[in-house]
Amino acid sequence: KTSYLKHTDKHHDRLLGGLLSPDMDEQYCLSRYKSSMFRKPSPFSVSPYLVEKLRKYEELHKKCGPNSKFFKQAIDQLNSGQSVDNAECKYIIWTQINGLGNRMLSLVSTFLYALLTNRVLLAELTPEMKDVFCEPFPGSSWQLPFDEFPIKLLLLKYREDSPESYTVMLKNKNITDSSNITHESLPSLVFFNAVAFNWRMENHLFCEKDQKILQKFNWMVVKSDGYYAAAFFLLPMYRNELRRLFPIKESVFHHLGRYLFQPANPVWNIIERFYQTHLINSDEKVGLQIRLFREEPIPFEDVYNHIMACSEKENLLPKLDHSNHDNSTPIVDKRTSILVLSLSSEFYERIKAMYYEKSTVSGEMVAVYQPTHEREQDSQAKFHNQKALAEMILLSYCDKIITTATSTFGYVAHGLSGSKPWVLRTLNRLMKEPGPACVRSMSVEPCLHSPPILECKANVSIDPTEVEPYLRQCDDAPPMGLKLY
Ligand code: GDP
Repeated sequence: KTSYLKHTDKHHDRLLGGLLSPDMDEQYCLSRYKSSMFRKPSPFSVSPYLVEKLRKYEELHKKCGPNSKFFKQAIDQLNSGQSVDNAECKYIIWTQINGLGNRMLSLVSTFLYALLTNRVLLAELTPEMKDVFCEPFPGSSWQLPFDEFPIKLLLLKYREDSPESYTVMLKNKNITDSSNITHESLPSLVFFNAVAFNWRMENHLFCEKDQKILQKFNWMVVKSDGYYAAAFFLLPMYRNELRRLFPIKESVFHHLGRYLFQPANPVWNIIERFYQTHLINSDEKVGLQIRLFREEPIPFEDVYNHIMACSEKENLLPKLDHSNHDNSTPIVDKRTSILVLSLSSEFYERIKAMYYEKSTVSGEMVAVYQPTHEREQDSQAKFHNQKALAEMILLSYCDKIITTATSTFGYVAHGLSGSKPWVLRTLNRLMKEPGPACVRSMSVEPCLHSPPILECKANVSIDPTEVEPYLRQCDDAPPMGLKLY
């Protein structure tokens, strides 16, 4: 009754402070204009420079995107096998791996890379990614056109040992490691293998001299499973631009994610229906995301007790009245909704039973919901991904967000929401280092789990957190992770 009405008047900020262009058909993408009714206004202002950059990017995308004359020319140039200087349009192609959360983090990172290097972002959207997001760029498409593009199944074709991989080119000395290399001596396409694990093995991707060479290729294919956007802040060559785009450092994913990820109509219909049916009349919405990783099996009771310990300490879920008083009249007129998100239904069942069997100390009314329990991750299925996105967005609408450490699903939700989550620490870590069950994150940004080693700067390994004060260890994945604060 409160939050919905507050934002439904016609003055609500439909275009997110200028982040979104008004040039998009409302019916094609309902969420673009309606989602601001359900979410709280952003805590971070959008810099005018970012707005200007996005409008310029949209122009570039329209000029160079699929179906344009420049795209056809660029395909001819790709077929020629050689890079050229002064190309009108250069491209970066995103390929996907892992679950939807990983994909969204790497897509935002690739878009930021495109903005920093004036490339056009095209996405290899396989069938399970169709009808998940709306097209983000007005008047054009971000989908790599499969029939026109000469290379098929990029994700399968390019691997870390492929001749197109930048590090393989370096190893084979196909390119000398010098900055005065000519465009014509380079192949037309380079594979930028930014899967987090590789960075520790191959420390060439985030060195300035390599970035300068990489910029000379007309086509780049990227594979990444993580939030490599944070790594660009390590490079002085991009830092000034990044500062202008994001005066508030922790707003990078928040703004670019809100810009790129408009749920497609089938997903929006799920979100709107669920919100209107269950959440609209809540005074407070508490979202609880429980992600159990197969590699770290933990008994249900231990996880449940862990969640309760976190809730108790941080005052998150309404407290139960254990006093046995027959108290049926609500003391306060407050309705709290708890949204449980998990692949399994066990936690939902237990929490729902708690509030069914006992009243709350405050007398507030509590409803517990779980939209789905899919049992298994099935990221190759479209409907599964659509439901996962709907749930990430619903979680992002909650007033208090509790997530599981290191889960990219959780990162997306709190990143889009702009509110700092409480993060359930991994139980295995707690066994090694005792401490609180959860911590309130100091930043809404996702964590880059495996940052590059900055050996290119010196012959010794440099701690990235010593480079800039706003780059720090992640609170959910120390000691390796890197995050913007
Ligand atoms: P991560 O593995 O936690 O980092 O997150 P990802 O999103 O990359 O991969 C997990 C995938 O499992 C999700 O994208 C969903 O497909 C599925 N999944 C995990 N938890 C949930 C959940 O609570 N709800 C739904 N609908 N799907 C989930």
